[in-house]
Amino acid sequence: MKIICIGRNYVEHARELNNPLPSKPVFFMKPDSSLLINNNPFFLPDFSNEIHYEAEIVLKISRLGKNIQKQFAHRYYSTLGIGIDFTARDLQDACKKAGHPWEIAKSFDQSAVINRFIPLASVPDPLAINFQLDLNGKTLQKGNTRDMIFSFDEIIAYISTFITLKTGDLIFTGTPSGVGPVKTGDHLVASVEEQVLLDFYVR
Ligand code: ZN
Repeated sequence: MKIICIGRNYVEHARELNNPLPSKPVFFMKPDSSLLINNNPFFLPDFSNEIHYEAEIVLKISRLGKNIQKQFAHRYYSTLGIGIDFTARDLQDACKKAGHPWEIAKSFDQSAVINRFIPLASVPDPLAINFQLDLNGKTLQKGNTRDMIFSFDEIIAYISTFITLKTGDLIFTGTPSGVGPVKTGDHLVASVEEQVLLDFYVR
């Protein structure tokens, strides 16, 4: 399986990092070795001094598809979760400055945190999904998918023009504003429509 992540999909987040708004989805990938599951602790890597959390709605692809048209894209996913796209912001800033790919900042071990998935049909409005991240009991990110620049279906249509999507692939759909650093001992709790789906510690 593969993990595809959308960057800059919420206006306020693009602005907080001084990034221009994209006219097409910006995406990058993480390997399967970056997965952290089962609410296991995240261990701060020693190659970065600035690991940021980014809470994102994650779609799980449910069937094989290539060149998927936007109007059929909804047939390719039926469950969603919430994940953390851990980012070595200091390394990413250096990559950006040098015009290099982001892999060392985005694809390291444990950088893709997921846990429980729920049926899309179980949320009140699949086009306006509320989600949030609490850090040590304080809500630091609050998002609603209606604020995405590119919808789930637009993202899937775009990605699948380049890359075949397979059952079990994950798509991180972008983070709202409020990203920031984590430190040892931090407790992260992420929820969708007030249902906690992810709950883990930084060690
Ligand atoms: Zn992200």
